[in-house]
Amino acid sequence: MSTAVVVGSGPNGLAAAVYLAREGVEVTLLEAADSIGGGTRTSELTPGLLHDHCSATHPMAVGSPFLQSLDLGRHGLTWCLPDIDCVHPLDSGEAGVLHRSVEETADGLGGVDGRRWRRVFGPLTNGYDALAEDIMRPLTHVPRHPLRLAAFGPQALLPTAAVARLWRSRTARALFAGVAAHAFRPFHRPASAAVGLTIIAAGHRHGWPVAAGGSRAISDALAAQLMEFGGRIETGVWVRSPADLPPADVVLFDLAPRAVADILGDRLPGRVARAYRRFRHGPGAFKADFAVEGGVPWTSEAARRAGTVHLGGTFEEVADTERMIHAGHMPERPFVLVGQQYLADPRRSSGDVHPVWTYAHVPHGYDGDATEVIIGQIERFAPGFRERVLDMAVRPPAAFEDYNPNYVGGDIVTGANTPLQLAMRPRVALDPYRTGVPGMYICSAASPPGAGAHGMCGANAAASALRHLGRRRARK
Ligand SMILES: Cc1cc2nc3c(=O)[nH]c(=O)nc-3n(C[C@H](O)[C@H](O)[C@H](O)COP(=O)(O)OP(=O)(O)OC[C@H]3O[C@@H](n4cnc5c(N)ncnc54)[C@H](O)[C@@H]3O)c2cc1C
Repeated sequence: MSTAVVVGSGPNGLAAAVYLAREGVEVTLLEAADSIGGGTRTSELTPGLLHDHCSATHPMAVGSPFLQSLDLGRHGLTWCLPDIDCVHPLDSGEAGVLHRSVEETADGLGGVDGRRWRRVFGPLTNGYDALAEDIMRPLTHVPRHPLRLAAFGPQALLPTAAVARLWRSRTARALFAGVAAHAFRPFHRPASAAVGLTIIAAGHRHGWPVAAGGSRAISDALAAQLMEFGGRIETGVWVRSPADLPPADVVLFDLAPRAVADILGDRLPGRVARAYRRFRHGPGAFKADFAVEGGVPWTSEAARRAGTVHLGGTFEEVADTERMIHAGHMPERPFVLVGQQYLADPRRSSGDVHPVWTYAHVPHGYDGDATEVIIGQIERFAPGFRERVLDMAVRPPAAFEDYNPNYVGGDIVTGANTPLQLAMRPRVALDPYRTGVPGMYICSAASPPGAGAHGMCGANAAASALRHLGRRRARK
């Protein structure tokens, strides 16, 4: 029987392990922390309330071709949808509202903007599942749906600022800005629209669900599936060098490229080591989780029903602050994301006290305290919020990196979404998962298709490792 070791139990490490175990490979998964899950952990950061440590909302996971190929419902994974997916309130009292339905969203925007929303997102949403089969694989694969990919490519290559010109109203432009900002890229840069277009289309197709009981339900279900296929998990095992790896036919690293270079040292071919050390990380996140009595008193009625609320004002304001953090300057009013997962999954609350998940976009490695600016941004659209906060837990960029070394400098998407790294990550290669050391692979969000709890980086890397095992068997 072939054997595999997977290092790191984020959604990609777990997906890689499940993929291989399902094919009959004997898999051991090693995790440095005391609990599994990486970016899909959930716990009582404040007493009695369930807070997601990292990922919260899952339009990419619910539509993931690999996760859909598993019966994770049998292992306790249930998706819950909020009434409204996402709201972007403005100082004027208006708000951009993203519903699951393209029609409802377009009707809310009205007039020319609504028609254009329908024209851009109607076809993308209808073809999303087919498109996902291609965009969630490396660029070098043979496309399964070349016409869809050819239609999406030119739009995805545009700067966010160019796509936003389609819309005239402040609300439509702000709504697009908030989702596009998930890419952590300045809006005037080429291909900065790709992530926003994809997340909106994924959301219109599958919604922006949360996992019942917290995002940890995703990793718990994957772990249960792995055990069922005979895999083993060891926590508290920090891999620092090849000596820490048990013997195996293949090894997959769910780690940032620099960590793989550190572990493999001289064994890594020089050109790969250089590429891994040159791999660029993006700006950081400063997270604050609150225990809020009675929930957030949003002025916008829609925001009170939304799973996600984007705060940062108009398109121009978000564009400015994203440019600033990218240049290493902390804005007075940064872009802030607010998650109200409890609206879709009320069991996370305790009576009328609710867990509210937030993070601000900050410069890479930012060492200041952004707690007050986050509270200030929420107060701007929900006066009285501060008085309702009973408790809080904060995690600055450096603490993120301590918590999970994949988040270098607080870069929670494990790699800047530059055009090159969007297309080819972590290095330019026909098979981006291969490290150049026979049988060793990288499978984290630093490989295609990038960040998210969709497990596709892990599944793609495992497919590559499996081909290697097949070739070895054929040679014997
Ligand atoms: C604040 C925040 C909000 C986010 N929001 C969302 C969201 O709403 N939706 C979404 O889809 N995504 C979101 N993400 C991104 C998502 O969580 C990540 O893209 C995803 O978790 C990446 O998965 P991964 O398996 O590549 O690595 P990770 O989840 O980072 O896991 C890596 C694992 O490897 C372990 N490890 C590291 N080094 C070693 C070592 N040397 N030896 C052994 N183990 C090691 C770590 O402890 C960790 O468990 C968010 C992330 C953060 C931090």
